[in-house]
Parts: sequence; C-alpha cells; structure tokens
Amino acid sequence: MATEIPDLLISEVGPRDGLQSIKAIMPTADKFKWIDALVAAGLREIEVGSFVPASHLPQMADTALVVRHALQHRGVTIMALVPNRRGAAAALEAGVHKLTIPVSASAAHSLANVRKTREQMVEELYAIVQLRDAIAPGVKIEAGMSTAFGCTLQGAVPEDEVIWLAQQCIAAGADETGLSDTTGMANPAQVRRLFNKLRAAIGVKCGAAHLHNTRGLGLANCLAAYEVGVRTFDSSQGGIGGCPYAPGASGNVVTEDLVFMFEAMGLNTGVDLEKLFAARLLLQAGLPGEPIYGMTPEAGLPKGWLQRSPSHGS
Ligand code: ZN
Repeated sequence: MATEIPDLLISEVGPRDGLQSIKAIMPTADKFKWIDALVAAGLREIEVGSFVPASHLPQMADTALVVRHALQHRGVTIMALVPNRRGAAAALEAGVHKLTIPVSASAAHSLANVRKTREQMVEELYAIVQLRDAIAPGVKIEAGMSTAFGCTLQGAVPEDEVIWLAQQCIAAGADETGLSDTTGMANPAQVRRLFNKLRAAIGVKCGAAHLHNTRGLGLANCLAAYEVGVRTFDSSQGGIGGCPYAPGASGNVVTEDLVFMFEAMGLNTGVDLEKLFAARLLLQAGLPGEPIYGMTPEAGLPKGWLQRSPSHGS
C-alpha cells in the first residue's frame, strides 16, 4: 500500500482518552469494528485503552481483549495507558507495543489525580521501567506530561518545573516524554516555547504533542508544535474525550480536522480522510446519542479534493 514515508505520525487516542471520558460504555464488539476501521483508514498508532480498575473506569474493563484484537493488525503500534506498576504488568501481559504513563506537571493535579507527589510518580515510572526491562524489553515507554500548559487547580504551571520533571522521567528510563494540554489552556506561543525548551533539555526523546480544543486553539497549537519540529500528534476521532469544560466544545483535537489541515498543507499523514469518515460512522454507531465533533466531517471535503496520500483510492 503506502510506499511513501509519512511526514508525521497521528496517534489516535479516541478509544482510550475518548471512551474513558464518556459515561456510556461502548460494547467490546463495537470497539473492535471501530478500531479495525481506524486501521483501514491508515492510522498506524492507536491507544486502545487503559489498564485501571474496572470499578474506577468500567468503560475500560475490556482493555485486555481490545489489545488482543488490535494486535492482529500488523504494522500498527498498539498502546495503552497505565497509571501504575500494576496496570503496566497487565498491559505487558496483554502484549502492548507501547505504554503511556501520565505524569502531572502540576503538583496540585498530581496529588488530586493519583494521590502521589510528582517525585513519587517518577518512582512509579522507574518501577514500570524495571518491570518492562525484565519481561518485555522491546516495549516502549512514553511519559505524558499532563497539565504541562496550565492546571485548573493551581493555575499556571512553572515551565522550569515541566522541564525538570521531563528530565526526571527520562532519567528514570522513559524512552520519550511528551507534553499534554490536559486542561485546554495552551496557546501557540506557549506551545512553541515549551517544546523548544523540552527539545533543548531531552533532545530526540522529545515525544508527542497531546493538545486539546477546549477553547478552540487545538489546531493552532498543533501547527505551532509542528513548526518547532514535533512530528507526533495525539488526537481523537470525533474529538471525544479530553474533559471538555465548555458545552459544545470538543476536548481532544479532532483527528479528522487535524488530518485535513496537514494534508491540505501538502503533508503526508498516511491517513485517508474518506476512510476516516467511514470509521466515524462506526464510532457513532457504538455510542448512540453521544455528541461527536469535527468541522471537516460536518462541512465535507472541498470540491476537487484529491488527497496526496498514496493509500487514497487504492
Ligand atoms: Zn486528551
């Protein structure tokens, strides 16, 4: 199929970040169909769930099954989020290729969210790295620096603390560290500045941009990150998840809109928009009545749109 190397990587987080923020539970069989359609659209990295107690997030209770199903798609990186060593053990057992560990940059958010200080969370990360090294050394570990651009509890998060924490995560053995705008507070100037500082501090271990559209700046922030060299972007089909605070606003950056922006700029994402729209129908079918977002699917593709992605039409 694809003979060209894509210019960037879109990492689809809808099956995790999206579904875990919605009260309704998508049936396992519908998750399978949706993920299959995402793969068919050309997505090469998918975060399919999180390994957390089912009592806490019943939407994620079937994550091991979803991982096993998704692993049938060769060449696709299957990721899961794990908050601790116990979750990591379950994820490694299920056979994931990559683990995401959320580490709060905000001291207040860390205590409220995982009841651990940031230093304790780095220790947990170190324990996960040890476990990975012992039983599945090929698995990659990404630390996702949540609330890196601001926090609803404490307000501003000092940039020096974000960079300090990212360095601690790399020192603890994370393969990469990305920055997440968990609360939708980032702006493009801040995104440029913080990713530049991160790259200066940890070089090629600088990971994904996980940006939200809570205040309408999701795409602008992604473009700002692209301009300073970021090449991996987390996004969510239909913009589901990401804890939207404003009614009518999506949380996560919408995958459809993000692919449209980059492809319209002449960049190859490897994702076929028409097939992505087909996957969107399966998302909606699995979550009847839930709002999903996206300007591009609403407006449709422009007349004469011919995507340059090599998978188009094949
Ligand atoms: Zn998110």
